[in-house]
Amino acid sequence: MKILVTGGAGYIGSVVTEELIAAGESVVVFDNLSQGHRAAVHPRAAFVYGDLADRTAVEALFLAHQPAAVMHFASNTLVGESMKAPFKYLGDNITNGLNLLQTAVAHGVRRFVLSSTANLFDDPERIPIDENERIVPGSPYGESKYILERYLYWLDRIYGFRYAALRYFNAAGATEERGEDHDPETHLIPLVLQVALGKREQISIFGDDYPTRDGTCIRDYIHVADLAQAHILALNALDSGSRRYNLGNGLGFSVREVVAACRKVTGHPIPEVVTARRPGDPATLIASSSTIREELGWEPRFPDIETIVATAWQWHKAHPDGYTG
Ligand code: UDP
Repeated sequence: MKILVTGGAGYIGSVVTEELIAAGESVVVFDNLSQGHRAAVHPRAAFVYGDLADRTAVEALFLAHQPAAVMHFASNTLVGESMKAPFKYLGDNITNGLNLLQTAVAHGVRRFVLSSTANLFDDPERIPIDENERIVPGSPYGESKYILERYLYWLDRIYGFRYAALRYFNAAGATEERGEDHDPETHLIPLVLQVALGKREQISIFGDDYPTRDGTCIRDYIHVADLAQAHILALNALDSGSRRYNLGNGLGFSVREVVAACRKVTGHPIPEVVTARRPGDPATLIASSSTIREELGWEPRFPDIETIVATAWQWHKAHPDGYTG
């Protein structure tokens, strides 16, 4: 099956592309390289440089490649930025997604996997968070993903457009060849590893007065290769209906526990300093992934935080300057 992966030069999209190719699928990546890296695209994937804002380019892409399914990663993805530049999210993420959806429907594509987010659950009533939790987007970023989920709901009802919306918690780790390289980097694990690499003096801990076991925020870190497997399982299950899954390990680790795991893995002391809370950070986010485990048999292969960090460390040591190094 030919699969279109938008954002396939980015962190998660590039790993999903790698795993799709390993599973014997044929992939075309569409990416504007605004955040992704050409070198991250698997050499056996076709690559089309382009922007989802350009309807003509999207139309040409479908005409040339005739994908049977779409996995949609290309997006602005930063919660904090979305609170400062809402139209980049409530505008671009949505209109670009609509361009893609309209073109997919027009070309008879009926299989779609959306990269969605835990930011749908800003104020969870129950931890771990399952799919019955009420949706309260935490930012224009989360809202943009929720709106795309709603479009998908209607396209399913009207056109039989089968979709999976995968709400990720904290993607982390690396495969041998593909890892996390954002500019600017804002995520905890790569920032801590930059300290171990000597590129940063210390790590800032954003608040240690949360109602958690050590006062720092608890998050659910899921290995990017485990996420990729979930995408493949979800895609293959679409013929029996659309679905929405929360995706995490079901295990929460505090910021201090992550920093401790990084110290252990790297052998570096990693100095830390406690700074103010980051606006918009909930104290605890942990996923219940029991639905995807039960329905699709998904099992994380790397549930342990030290293993996750170790895979990221291997990649960062081999690519100290990221893909451009
Ligand atoms: N965090 C931190 N220092 C940093 C970056 C992140 O203390 O330099 C915290 C952040 O407040 C959150 C957790 O680490 O509680 C994970 O943040 P990240 O940005 O990696 O992912 P998010 O949970 O925002 O998706």
